[in-house]
Amino acid sequence: MSKIGKVTVLNILACTMIIFTAVVVFWLLAKNNLFTDFIRDSENKSFDYRQKVLASRKNNFLAKNNIAVITVDDVSFEYLWDKYGEWPIPRDIYAGLIDYIEASQPKSVVFDLLFIKSLKSSDNADNKLINTVNKYNNIFMAMNFDNIPDDARKPLDLPERIEVNVNNQSKVNIVSNMTFSNCRTILQGLLNGKANVGIANVNRSTDGIIRTVSPFAFYKGHYYPYLSLIAGDNFLNGKLSGGYTINKNSELLIGNRAIPLTENGEIILNWYGEAGRVFEMVPMYKLLLDIEKSGQNYNFKNKTVYIGTTATSLHDTKSVPVSRLYPGVEIHATFLNNLIDNNFIKKTTLGTDIIICSLLAIITILIVFASSSAIFATLSTIMILVGYTFITYYLMFISNLWAPLVLPAIIVIMAFALSYIIKYIIKSRDFEYQYKLATVDGLTDLYNHRYFQESLKQQMETAKRYGTSVSLIIVDIDFFKKFNDTYGHQAGDAVLRQVAQVLKKNVRTSDIVCRYGGEEMSIILPNTNNTEARINAERICKAVAEKPFKLNATDESHVTISLGVATFPKDGEIPKDLIETADKGLYRAKENGRNQVGAAE
Ligand code: GH3
Ligand code: MG
Ligand code: MG
Repeated sequence: MSKIGKVTVLNILACTMIIFTAVVVFWLLAKNNLFTDFIRDSENKSFDYRQKVLASRKNNFLAKNNIAVITVDDVSFEYLWDKYGEWPIPRDIYAGLIDYIEASQPKSVVFDLLFIKSLKSSDNADNKLINTVNKYNNIFMAMNFDNIPDDARKPLDLPERIEVNVNNQSKVNIVSNMTFSNCRTILQGLLNGKANVGIANVNRSTDGIIRTVSPFAFYKGHYYPYLSLIAGDNFLNGKLSGGYTINKNSELLIGNRAIPLTENGEIILNWYGEAGRVFEMVPMYKLLLDIEKSGQNYNFKNKTVYIGTTATSLHDTKSVPVSRLYPGVEIHATFLNNLIDNNFIKKTTLGTDIIICSLLAIITILIVFASSSAIFATLSTIMILVGYTFITYYLMFISNLWAPLVLPAIIVIMAFALSYIIKYIIKSRDFEYQYKLATVDGLTDLYNHRYFQESLKQQMETAKRYGTSVSLIIVDIDFFKKFNDTYGHQAGDAVLRQVAQVLKKNVRTSDIVCRYGGEEMSIILPNTNNTEARINAERICKAVAEKPFKLNATDESHVTISLGVATFPKDGEIPKDLIETADKGLYRAKENGRNQVGAAE
């Protein structure tokens, strides 16, 4: 009994766990895409961790000597504020700076500063900047698009010279997040002059962190290039291509590079760690002091020179995977660095992700089913998780490949849990079956002799402990040999089965009905004294005698039984005594003419 109870409890527990898991999963799926959002955000976070760990291992930058970043840092900001008493500073200061930088023949000068429309009072200074920019062919200027409603600010037409052609041969939606209805225009002289104008808009993931840049923006039916895309084009080709192709593999072709794009047309940057680790960083005030002294202490020959703010007081800091306070201008420099190093991040395709998840799930399921120990299965699953995590780090390190980590991990854990539950249910079902085979008689479906012996012993011990009584009835079919001879063994078996059913129907559910052997049956009646047991035996005797038993499809016949009764503690202290007394009773019943309960001694 206790074994059956244990199995049932475990079965119920396992089923409850399965149902609970399923309900939770469906609830998560149903509730506002919570599940998919959770996986996407966690996957992004896992990318950040990989980037952070790998950043310290990235050292061989081809681009290291090709990029300089001139920063309006906190010190420069204090210097400028002290000197001019305003921010933004008069723009002729940048004119002086351009002349100074150009003197050492840089590859290009890229401004991550927005020279938006200015006050009338500063026209002269603005014109000085415009004239200086237009003296050179290698200056790049930033502008921004936005989605401000057009009743707040009129959308302007932009000059054709800053558009680009895009030949998209892929299924990538290259402007899905980058379609705009308005623009924050810059000084007309820069838009229409010789400056190369690019877009400086950034992409943020749902958690606000910048991981990617978009190569194109879409405005009024035209494509406009990302500022560092044209700076990179100029770096690789010495001039601007004016048009870009995205091949069938979703790669943006530029120079001899092929930049992988995501399905949203974004380029995933490979981040290099904290600001200033990779590039030559020069605070702007140092150059301005040099200019004041007519010096030429800084040389930018053949370099791409970015100019932007990094001062925390100017609030141009962003969150990126490797840092929560990253200067905007360094995002541009990182793009160019990735382009020169040819190491943009490539994400695995959906097909590959499905294969990875399936393989890991299959391995986990096989291990769970093959292993006999729970500890081994658990440790192996943990090893799979740890091993796969290392593989994803390694893939990112050696081939810049972003393989999914979160979904496969969830699938491994779910595969482990579910296959374990299923394994357990199968095992307990098997156990139940084996247990039944060992305790139940195949012909009558009554408990077998061995179970009878165990039960009688157990019940007598229990009765002894609690001071109660337990009775035993032994049943033997009358003239059964003759019955078999007359109607055949088949009919005999059928009657045996039906007599067993009559016995079961006429006792309590707590009574234990067994096949004692041959055509003899026994009933253990816990908590039953001799008088009650005799009444019960009489009732059974009558029920059998009155019932017509089916012999086959058409014939019926009657049989009778004789019964013997014994009770603990009255008739003995051990099972043997009880069985003997009941047997004697049975014998007396036979002697007395059968179809009766043997009288007490
Ligand atoms: P009585 O008990 O009234 O003295 O006479 P009896 O003919 O029943 O005598 P006994 O109990 O000694 O004989 C048992 C007979 O029951 C022998 C056998 O033919 C029959 N029997 C025992 N087990 C089975 C069984 O599984 N199937 C069938 N059909 N007959 C069985
Ligand atoms: Mg017999
Ligand atoms: Mg008999």
